[in-house]
Amino acid sequence: MSKSFEDKVIIITGAGSGLGQVTAVTVAKDGAKLALVDLNSNGLEETKKLILEVAPEAELLLVTANVADEAAVKNYVDETVNKFGRIDGFFNNAGIEGKQNLTEDFGIDEFHKVVNVNLNGVFYGLKYVLAEMKKNGAGSVVNTASVGGIRGVGNQSGYSASKHGVVGLTRNSGIEYGQFGININAIAPGAIMTPMVEASLKQIGGEEGWEEAGKEFVSANPMKRFGKPQEVANVVAFLLSDESKFVNASVITIDGGQSYKY
Ligand code: NAD
Repeated sequence: MSKSFEDKVIIITGAGSGLGQVTAVTVAKDGAKLALVDLNSNGLEETKKLILEVAPEAELLLVTANVADEAAVKNYVDETVNKFGRIDGFFNNAGIEGKQNLTEDFGIDEFHKVVNVNLNGVFYGLKYVLAEMKKNGAGSVVNTASVGGIRGVGNQSGYSASKHGVVGLTRNSGIEYGQFGININAIAPGAIMTPMVEASLKQIGGEEGWEEAGKEFVSANPMKRFGKPQEVANVVAFLLSDESKFVNASVITIDGGQSYKY
């Protein structure tokens, strides 16, 4: 076990599944103390179990919270500081895809729901975490955008608007907070095989045809496959570490090169 995150306190939202869960296990193995935040408390318990299998000494705080609720965000930040005394890293990651539909049929409520979680939730997290990091004059933040935040994907009005917004927030806050020793970046994953992507393929191909829909989907990727959650977690861990402090306000694609293909 490397000790690169020893004594570092990291908050991860969306830690009960997918990219947040695998990242949590990855940085816990390297000594991080973690505040794990998710709407789904069963998911958080599962993540805790996975962490303790590889890092039995890990210090963990589990907070069931909705990132779209500003008071709940303030609370997970306060609880983290009360327990651990500081915040060194923040993986601002919780998100939902929403139902796929043409813009005219997307639905006003659906649009607000997706934007509330993916964009407002990320903003609330930045607001409260950055104030805390600024006091310490150090910190690293990784916001989860998407290739849907840098390219048009189609049928995803809420997702696209919110993820482009996450890119904007990242650039804006990155240039504001560099002077305080804080670097803020976004990741833009392509299709990574997590429960979210499985659900998305089921919207396209149904229960019977989703694996076939998946094969067709990746045929356009230069690497002809889905990404693995660990391949995202490795990049996030690097961006949260002291090794990447001069990377700031950047958007890092993790998509096998697909977003650069004509
Ligand atoms: P996932 O569904 O496996 O995990 C998302 C987690 O976020 C779940 O545990 C869920 O309970 C939690 N969550 C959802 N809404 C929440 C809320 N309001 N408050 C607190 N927690 C909430 O999905 P994932 O693939 O791991 O996605 C993680 C992030 O990565 C999302 O922001 C997603 O948009 C983004 N992303 C994923 C992919 C991909 O291919 N998997 C690609 C690009 C971007």
